[in-house]
Amino acid sequence: MPTSTSRKLVILDRDGVINVDSDAFIKSADEWIALPGSLEAIARLNQAGYRVAIATNQSGIGRGLFDTTALNEMHAKMQRQAAAVGGRIDAVFFCPHTAQDHCDCRKPKPGMLKMIADRFEIEPADTPVVGDSLRDLEAGAVLGFPTHLVLTGKGEKTRAAGGLPEGTKVHADLRAFVLDFLANEPA
Ligand SMILES: [Mg+2]
Ligand SMILES: [Zn+2]
Repeated sequence: MPTSTSRKLVILDRDGVINVDSDAFIKSADEWIALPGSLEAIARLNQAGYRVAIATNQSGIGRGLFDTTALNEMHAKMQRQAAAVGGRIDAVFFCPHTAQDHCDCRKPKPGMLKMIADRFEIEPADTPVVGDSLRDLEAGAVLGFPTHLVLTGKGEKTRAAGGLPEGTKVHADLRAFVLDFLANEPA
């Protein structure tokens, strides 16, 4: 793959963007259910030469609700289902901590996005960050990533609450984001 292609990256939140969210946490592979069209949208990004990384808060681990084995099983299911429609997620960065841990990775802290930028050697200005919660967007905005809100998951509530980072674009769902993003891609 040419270098120019490999620098093309999209960063996604997981719960409420790729899969159905739950206030009771997603604790097992059985509870991990893809949102309609989300994995096909990821495949479409891949076909356009983009890699996809996930940055996800998973405080359920820190709370003892599930462990990293269960998280790995969720992601194995996600990758299997993505592969079935021609898609692939290149990396999953997760924060296992609770707010009380005061770590640098739990969004809205930008730690995970900083690690992704370093790992993939990308420029924030060229890399969209997509989320359904304000903290996803805040983590991106502080590093200069373009921010995109989807209205799935907590997205409707997030939009209604207001205070989105300047320049945030709003999309019905991940599929709508991808169509809009690729249509406006610089040649
Ligand atoms: Mg979310
Ligand atoms: Zn953390």
